[in-house]
Amino acid sequence: MYYNIHTHSEIESKEVWSLVNANPATIIPISSKHYSVGLHPWHLDAHTLEEAMAAVRQVAAMPYVWAIGECGLDRVCETEWSLQQKAFQMHIALSNELKKPLLIHAVRSHQEVLQWLRKYHHQQAVIFHGVNHKGIDSLWSAGHFVSFGKALLNPKSEASKAIQHVAADSYFLETDDDATVTIQEIYAVAATYRCQSIDQTIQEITQNFRSIFIS
Ligand SMILES: [Zn+2]
Repeated sequence: MYYNIHTHSEIESKEVWSLVNANPATIIPISSKHYSVGLHPWHLDAHTLEEAMAAVRQVAAMPYVWAIGECGLDRVCETEWSLQQKAFQMHIALSNELKKPLLIHAVRSHQEVLQWLRKYHHQQAVIFHGVNHKGIDSLWSAGHFVSFGKALLNPKSEASKAIQHVAADSYFLETDDDATVTIQEIYAVAATYRCQSIDQTIQEITQNFRSIFIS
């Protein structure tokens, strides 16, 4: 089984288990699927935050929701910083309350995200999705998971360097919102970087999946 830990596509396949990022306001769940729900820092609105978060909370408790997010902090988007922090804090609390993993979107804010997770005593598994920056090591050194996506297709990317030595028990793979690449292709590239077979990559990620979701 291939695990796609973060995708915006609902395309079905027997050999792929996908964690589909869903909008809590528009989700029409299919019971055979697996979702993450949260408020992306790009799309926050100070006037509707409480309401939007109430919608997340309602959906997040459902059994078809496997993770909270994507949520986090983004230094490059236009959303006001204090609003981002407020929303992120709410997601950390919800993840703790429901005991579901947190799926993080972070741009130029990884150290701050780490600080916030400590500050608010986050106790669930954390997956930093779409990592591709200097210092990816510091995330798995802190005990978190990192998920690599299409940045692996660029041999000069930070992701391509990091995947070569990421601890086997600390990573996932994903396609995110890119419909031009399949998760099987991402696995193949990852396996090449790690000098191992695709089967071995499948084994490592299956193990990581079980450690978070089946325990
Ligand atoms: Zn995404």
